[in-house]
Amino acid sequence: MADRPYIVGNWKMNGMRAMLPEARAIDRAAQRLMKVEVALAPPFTLIHAVHREVEQIGVGAQDCHAGRDGAHTGDVSAAMIADAGAKFVILGHSERRAAHREDNDMVAAKIAAANAAGLDIILCCGESLETRDEGRAEDFVLGQLRHALAHVDAAGERLTVAYEPVWAIGTGRTAAPRDIAAMHAAIRTLLVESFGAEEGAQVRILYGGSVKPENAREILALENVDGALVGGASLSAESFLGIAHAAIGDEDA
Ligand code: PEP
Repeated sequence: MADRPYIVGNWKMNGMRAMLPEARAIDRAAQRLMKVEVALAPPFTLIHAVHREVEQIGVGAQDCHAGRDGAHTGDVSAAMIADAGAKFVILGHSERRAAHREDNDMVAAKIAAANAAGLDIILCCGESLETRDEGRAEDFVLGQLRHALAHVDAAGERLTVAYEPVWAIGTGRTAAPRDIAAMHAAIRTLLVESFGAEEGAQVRILYGGSVKPENAREILALENVDGALVGGASLSAESFLGIAHAAIGDEDA
């Protein structure tokens, strides 16, 4: 695990202004948890409000459009997200790849847009259960990443990779620790090949897929698991902070 684990909450399409106290509670606790880096990606509508509400945690977006501006009804650009107070953007999430048919080229175009807006990137990758059962998980994930990494301007701490097996997201199923460790090791090798030993080692690799306080400690203790991307369990300060505590091996996690 990284010296300072990175725990990121993805609120997905959840969160009204009534959720702001939850963000504040997470932020206040994070101020006392300096050994963990905590961040939240609320929906677009709450980015500015969460940004104003918090002092310690990072705030990001869950997606951006690939274009700079113009006639794209209903879309939000990377520059708009940055203007609202976001420091990072999650790209290539499997829910967007599936529901919005985002392919590797689209993800690459969004990476370029995020680069231009100065946003850090959390780049998601992950295989379906079918692909895993066919024994092609590693090839598939590394293929997704190779395509995307060629477009990344800044690696090191500006880039985070999130390995999220599609079948583990929101299902309550987590990948076996041995499989997580093997995939993260393969991703690390690719990062070092792509960016060199020093920068490639600095890129954080998060695991995502039904992480909760009860399973976080075992997952986060694995080699090359530098933190977690958390969906459902990030919606309450109590469970999200339980994961943050588990990341540093706190007994009360
Ligand atoms: C996610 O959406 O990135 C995710 C990991 O969701 P969950 O924790 O709910 O599986």
